[in-house]
Amino acid sequence: MSRTVIVGAGQAGAVAAVKLREFGYNGEIVLIGAEQHPPYERPELSKAYALGQMPFEKLVLLPADKATEQRIEMRLAAPVVAIDRDKQVVRTAEDEIGYDHLILATGGEGRRIPLPDQLADKVHIVRSREDADALGKALAKAATAAIIGGGWLGLEAAATCKSSGINVHLYETAPRLCARVAPEWLSSVLHDIQADNGVALHLGETPEITDDGQIVSASGSITPDVIVLAVGMTANDSLAADAGLRCNDGVLVSENGQSSDPKIFAIGDCARYVHLGNLRRESWQNANQSAEDAARGITGSPRRNAEPDWFWSKQFKHNIQMLGTCTDAQDAVLRVHPKTGAKSCFFLDQGLLVGCIAVDSARDIGMSRGLVAKGQKVDHAKLSDPAIPIRGCVET
Ligand SMILES: Cc1cc2nc3c(=O)[nH]c(=O)nc-3n(C[C@H](O)[C@H](O)[C@H](O)COP(=O)(O)OP(=O)(O)OC[C@H]3O[C@@H](n4cnc5c(N)ncnc54)[C@H](O)[C@@H]3O)c2cc1C
Repeated sequence: MSRTVIVGAGQAGAVAAVKLREFGYNGEIVLIGAEQHPPYERPELSKAYALGQMPFEKLVLLPADKATEQRIEMRLAAPVVAIDRDKQVVRTAEDEIGYDHLILATGGEGRRIPLPDQLADKVHIVRSREDADALGKALAKAATAAIIGGGWLGLEAAATCKSSGINVHLYETAPRLCARVAPEWLSSVLHDIQADNGVALHLGETPEITDDGQIVSASGSITPDVIVLAVGMTANDSLAADAGLRCNDGVLVSENGQSSDPKIFAIGDCARYVHLGNLRRESWQNANQSAEDAARGITGSPRRNAEPDWFWSKQFKHNIQMLGTCTDAQDAVLRVHPKTGAKSCFFLDQGLLVGCIAVDSARDIGMSRGLVAKGQKVDHAKLSDPAIPIRGCVET
């Protein structure tokens, strides 16, 4: 009987196991995880879970009984330490497990910056359940938090810290928030959300962190009780690199997730997509889709239809969603819903709808999804009028 081994029992790994069964894989599936917990979703770790507003059980994706039901053998708290590609085995501290196909779903680690050792207790990176527990505990006795990094994770951490009732300062080297991934319109919306909720924003500032725990920047200095590092992620690709697979802060893969060894796939945060110009995609959607792509590849099922990229964030009471391609290079059309103040910004490329950012208007994302996927021609003026349903803006 053939066997697929999945290394990494996080979101992508769990979804890959389930999808393999869904696509009719009848061989053995062994899902090996370094953590002691069953696979769980991470997005709420920096939001409701850290604030103690969501039980861990709600995050669990693949409980033990569901795994057994689907004939998925889960081995937890058993980090894989090596891959032997000649023998087609992976090794844990205690075992050697053979594979016909191997899926790497090892995720990543929050990036660190050099900091004085004596500050270790104050410094938090949120990646795992334990990290979020530690942050939640620290916030309960803190008066001031400093967030280093103004990307999505930094903004969510700022909202979580502020919601626990403390002073929050956020430092970002770039002159605007989420500059790497967001157009200027969204940066400015995010700025308002944070500032209106009392987060002190220090943009264009790279602070110095002194040995005695002061954060010193052009705008002054503070001594926080909690420091959250949110300065990006590095892929867990050392297993793959040590096994001689092509890697570059991520395992280099083709569109269906295949690495430079055709028997080995890489999915989720640890994968870097060659067909997208060597890009990593760190999102909930990509974890699911790339897992499905690998399962399709292994079972010889037809390829999935391409879908526009989608990402969401939650900050304070606001729900922010981004769909498709949203850049400053495109025409932007704003639609404001008068009753609620919710707003969406649509992005057009030569009259074709290619993206949408919705702030508290999830319905606009739902209505745009199909149109963005097809790249439909839309009427600029109609799109800005909230009284006209989005479907009614399509030009025939
Ligand atoms: C705090 C936080 C908030 C987020 N919020 C959002 C959001 O709002 N929206 C959104 O779209 N995305 C969000 N994301 C991103 C999303 O959660 C990730 O893209 C997704 O979890 C990636 O799944 P993965 O399976 O690739 O990696 P992970 O879920 O990180 O799983 C990787 C697993 O592999 C294990 N592992 C690593 N090495 C080994 C080894 N050698 N042997 C065995 N196991 C190993 C790890 O322990 C881990 O359990 C967030 C992420 C974080 C951390």
